[in-house]
Amino acid sequence: MGKKTTHKFKAEVSQLLDILVHSLYTNKEIFLRELISNASDALEKARFKGQAEGAEDTVAPEIRIACDADAGTLTITDTGVGMTRDELMRNIGTIAHSGTAELTRLAGEGKESLDALIGRFGVGFYSVYMVADEVEVTTRSIEPDAKPVVWTSDGRTDYKLQELDEDLPRGTKIVVRLKEDLASQFTNAAHLKHIVNKHSNFINFPIYVGDERVNTIQALWREPKFQITSEQYAEFYKFLTFDPDDPFDTLHTSVDAPVQFNALMFIPKHGDDPFGMGRENRGLDLYVRRVLIEKQNKDLLPEYLGFVKGVVDTEDLPLNISRETLQDNILMRKISSTLVKQVLDHLAKMAKDDADRYADFWRAHGELFKAGYMDFLNKDKFAGLVRFHSSGLEDEKGLTSFADYITRAKEDQKEIYYAYGPSREALNLSPHLEVFRRKGVEVLYLFEPIDEFVMDALSEFDGWSLVSAEHADPAKLDKFESLEAEDKPEPLSDTEKPVLDKLLARMKDALGDAVTEVKASARLSRSPVCLANPDGNVTSSMDKIMRVMSK
Ligand code: ADP
Ligand code: MG
Repeated sequence: MGKKTTHKFKAEVSQLLDILVHSLYTNKEIFLRELISNASDALEKARFKGQAEGAEDTVAPEIRIACDADAGTLTITDTGVGMTRDELMRNIGTIAHSGTAELTRLAGEGKESLDALIGRFGVGFYSVYMVADEVEVTTRSIEPDAKPVVWTSDGRTDYKLQELDEDLPRGTKIVVRLKEDLASQFTNAAHLKHIVNKHSNFINFPIYVGDERVNTIQALWREPKFQITSEQYAEFYKFLTFDPDDPFDTLHTSVDAPVQFNALMFIPKHGDDPFGMGRENRGLDLYVRRVLIEKQNKDLLPEYLGFVKGVVDTEDLPLNISRETLQDNILMRKISSTLVKQVLDHLAKMAKDDADRYADFWRAHGELFKAGYMDFLNKDKFAGLVRFHSSGLEDEKGLTSFADYITRAKEDQKEIYYAYGPSREALNLSPHLEVFRRKGVEVLYLFEPIDEFVMDALSEFDGWSLVSAEHADPAKLDKFESLEAEDKPEPLSDTEKPVLDKLLARMKDALGDAVTEVKASARLSRSPVCLANPDGNVTSSMDKIMRVMSK
């Protein structure tokens, strides 16, 4: 036997362990989901490696769970890739995967309860310390000359490593010594089966509790739609995303041309933070003939559709395709463009059939969706799906499409107006919009910087130009009748004109380089003055953004 060595956990890992060991979280059973998911990943890796090398694999892929009530232990064994000594040190002890770091950070902030955080993040291997006094991992890597290694730890400050002399079949065995008060619960076979069914039913490899096979491996996405209940869809969705809520919407399709594939996609009720870890967390799982090729593939759907979760399974790609060549694969591109079209058409149908439901979708995912202004191929579909707040809607939460705006527009109006501001209140008072208020011309209200990029990229809708209210041509607005009496200024007399010119010159003098010009305008009737941009397409807020970006 090799020498036993002791190693300290990395600080980040220690912090997380401390949280988990002392956690009062009641839903501790999720540790099993995490260990099974790791076993499944290891089996996928072994299958993938075997395929790449073209060797016949003689080891049956499986996950076994055994318990010993007297000893108070639970054992999970897989025949996956296993780990070398180095991998073991790196994977369990040194690296905290991205979700872990985020969880520790959020737990430290204390804004969200630990319960909610543990539920929301897959906490990975370390979650076993919610139920364990001690854990022993024995693993033998698939690498030909690898020696089996044993890792043990009570999850406090350090772990021990020891190489074994005897050879073992490849794979990993994890023995969990359960905390005393939890031992009876997690050594009860019926209860364990229940947990496996609940959280791990769709795992792609057989799971045994004792000698009994528990999960029913089922590629739900390949079943005919009419045979699937909404409960089955929801169960699969929860398995896939770890979201405790039911999905907001389900989209199940089967396509034969120009390329064959099945897709089962879901839209969650809530959006991820589009600029936080949600970004990493996007992508559809890609299968070829029921074999998982890549989890969370990032090429099938563009980033702005990143809220869509699900799987795609095709007959048309070779099983041994490498992840590197997927990106340039022409079939992949065909699948992708079909998927994008399906998602956009599905959303369009939802918007048409049930505007309130679509508004709910928009509130959850609109922020991310707006980045689709860069998808020029689908510009028209995209333009039909974006929603805005508006001066024309009583309800401050109300949303409008371009098409609806047009139905409310004035006769002879051929432009859609918009303005960017910090809030509805600010825009309601903005001097730039005075003339629009007076004439009763609707203005779309933009509150997010990205909205202006959307307007700029689209530039028109159905033949109507999208025009910033700041740059609206007064002549085009003049023709609309005012809703209220206008106190239009009298034209200036010959004696008044030089006085005004002098006043403007003095103002320019006083303001110096802060402005390019001070001039009289017929645009305002109530506000004495407003700031305007010199002609051009850049609105004042866009100008601010560009200045920040060019720094
Ligand atoms: P994640 O699964 O998100 O990577 P985990 O904390 O669950 O994070 O696992 C950390 C790493 O430990 C895995 O990425 C994997 O490399 C390794 N690992 C865990 N369990 C096993 C196992 N049963 N077989 C092989 N490797 C494993
Ligand atoms: Mg894991």
